Amino acid sequence: MMQAIAGMSIIRVALDVPVAKLFDYRAREATAADVGRRVLVPFGRKTAVGVIVELAHSTAVPVERLKSAIRILHEFPPLAAEDLRLLRFAADYYHHPLGAVVMGALPTRLRRVAAPPRLRKRGSVTLQEAVPEARTAPLEAVAAPELTAEQTRAVSKVRAGLGGFHPFLLLGVTGSGKTEVYLHAIAATLEAGGQALVLVPEIALTPQLEALVQQRFPGTHTVSLHSALAEAERLEHWRAACSGQARIVLGTRLAVFAPLPELGLIVVDEEQDSSFKQGEGFRYSARDLAVVRARQRSVPVVLASATPALETYHNAVSGRYTLLTLSSRIGAPPPRISCIDTRGDKLSDGLSQRLLAALRKRVAGGEQALVFINRRGYAPVLICRSCGWVSGCQRCAARLVLHLPERRLRCHHCGHVSPPPAACPGCGNPDLAPVGHGTQRVEEALARLLPQTRLLRIDRDTTRQRRAWHTMRQRIQERDVDILVGTQILAKGHDFPHLNLVGVLNADSQLYSSDFRAAERLFALLTQVAGRAGRGGIQGEVLIQTEFPHHPLYAALCSQDYRAFADDALAERRQAGFPPFVHQALLRAEAPRLATALEFLGEAARRGRALDEHVTAYDPVPAALPRRAGRERAQLLVQAASRSRLRDFLGAWHDTLARSLTTRARWSIDVDPLEF
Ligand code: ADP
Ligand code: ZN
Ligand code: ZN
Repeated sequence: MMQAIAGMSIIRVALDVPVAKLFDYRAREATAADVGRRVLVPFGRKTAVGVIVELAHSTAVPVERLKSAIRILHEFPPLAAEDLRLLRFAADYYHHPLGAVVMGALPTRLRRVAAPPRLRKRGSVTLQEAVPEARTAPLEAVAAPELTAEQTRAVSKVRAGLGGFHPFLLLGVTGSGKTEVYLHAIAATLEAGGQALVLVPEIALTPQLEALVQQRFPGTHTVSLHSALAEAERLEHWRAACSGQARIVLGTRLAVFAPLPELGLIVVDEEQDSSFKQGEGFRYSARDLAVVRARQRSVPVVLASATPALETYHNAVSGRYTLLTLSSRIGAPPPRISCIDTRGDKLSDGLSQRLLAALRKRVAGGEQALVFINRRGYAPVLICRSCGWVSGCQRCAARLVLHLPERRLRCHHCGHVSPPPAACPGCGNPDLAPVGHGTQRVEEALARLLPQTRLLRIDRDTTRQRRAWHTMRQRIQERDVDILVGTQILAKGHDFPHLNLVGVLNADSQLYSSDFRAAERLFALLTQVAGRAGRGGIQGEVLIQTEFPHHPLYAALCSQDYRAFADDALAERRQAGFPPFVHQALLRAEAPRLATALEFLGEAARRGRALDEHVTAYDPVPAALPRRAGRERAQLLVQAASRSRLRDFLGAWHDTLARSLTTRARWSIDVDPLEF
């Protein structure tokens, strides 16, 4: 029962607790100006930091149990109403507790009870402090190149859209000058007095864009926001964004929530990248929220990609987004992509004679090459050929990957590490064989087959240390390396001017995957990898080893025709009833026993079916990785033709499940899931 309490202000506070509700406190001094401010409150026996999300005059909490807030904190400007609006939308849309969403959007230091360090006064930050090592490039302004006709057209469309909600898809092959287009759009935004927000995947690996922005806008306060920043730095950058002092904010997905009082433009580069969707906990899509935020704030949003997500491409061809195309690569001609048919070929450690010959030739000519294999470690599995035993993880339904030279079996899902057994645990056979190829094995084979070459392996194992990647980049740039062996870490956005040949191994495994998005991802990945070849003026060459040289995906890739691929793939999706023609959500559940998870999902499905016959609830199934870190995982897919219908359904369904279904399974809803 709600009761008004005369003459008393009540604040509703978001707290970082896993309960989907706000907490009421009395706060005599609170005024409307305090909404969005942090506040210290008693919580249980502790003191907690929260954010005031609204003022109220009545509460369901009995007056004698209503506690008083301890203190409203004034060191930082409050979250603005429009920032809170985005956070509310996100909490609601993704069915995640508002308290966790609001608190999660703050830098860690602001979530703690201990007072944040006193901020240094504006100006006192030296360049060295504010600019991490990657950005110490010369800071004279670097003139922009003269735009091509297509670029000019794209820029003027975005410029004309400033001041209103206009979503754009900027579609152009790698090296067609997309970055240049959005840099001009940013310039126009700055001139108009706006702040620009640029979201990129994995900023730690793309210091080049930071350097470029710094060079192009040397007098403009630019900050980055990503999880690799030290806490103090992140706080400083966040404050600069929310005070309006920073005019350009460059960040990874979490930056989509950065408070920006004068937001004028949002750019999402490589918008198809899966890192924009958070895979655990609060499973939001920063790309999708960028569009929502642009609509809420009436500003343009530019989604840039050579291989957009099919959802985005569909929005563009159906007219919801304006399509801006850049059709040709600038400078160097596009790379020549072709397939090497490996059927009947005798491979040396997974490498074809043709690829080896091409590598030799490039290296002899003083050029660099990349051998791309999307699997780290030495071999993906250790097997016994006499009894069929395979190295499997005890805690996951996954195989243990053999890593050399440290001689360890590693689980890439839960982190389990153990030495390989001396003999087969099944039959005692001492002769266990590594099967398949990972980066380490390819590196080892190349060292044997091309003995004079300087090799560098780049994967998550070799770049784990903070400075490792920086040093490696330098070695590549200084031509201290002939052949790179790398995983997808290398695929994104790096510019190596002497790299002219890319060889691709083991791509076929993705062609016939059960995940309906596998082909789309493979096309995007290979396009990105191919884009690494020939950035320095010489035509690049890409050789894909495959047993399916006539597969339509490879055909579209070889002619570098994203639209041919996408149109086909969309037609298939329409036919088969997959997104973007339907909208999906996944109810995920995990428990120590699979039966517990399945039972919960079964009941959830029954209740779902009773709620709305226009929403299809499928039967519960074990997850693609049915056991992880000792917990059994299962899921239930629901889908509907209408997004708003699905939203309404999810709201009601979530309520029923949370309120009246007790289970020992841990569950959550993943809206617009990308992983199954
Ligand atoms: P994308 O983002 O599409 O991969 P970039 O914007 O990085 O492409 O452009 C590729 C290269 O071409 C960069 O080195 C960039 O400086 C250069 N470039 C872009 N636009 C022009 C232009 N109009 N004239 C000359 N060079 C350009
Ligand atoms: Zn055996
Ligand atoms: Zn494991």
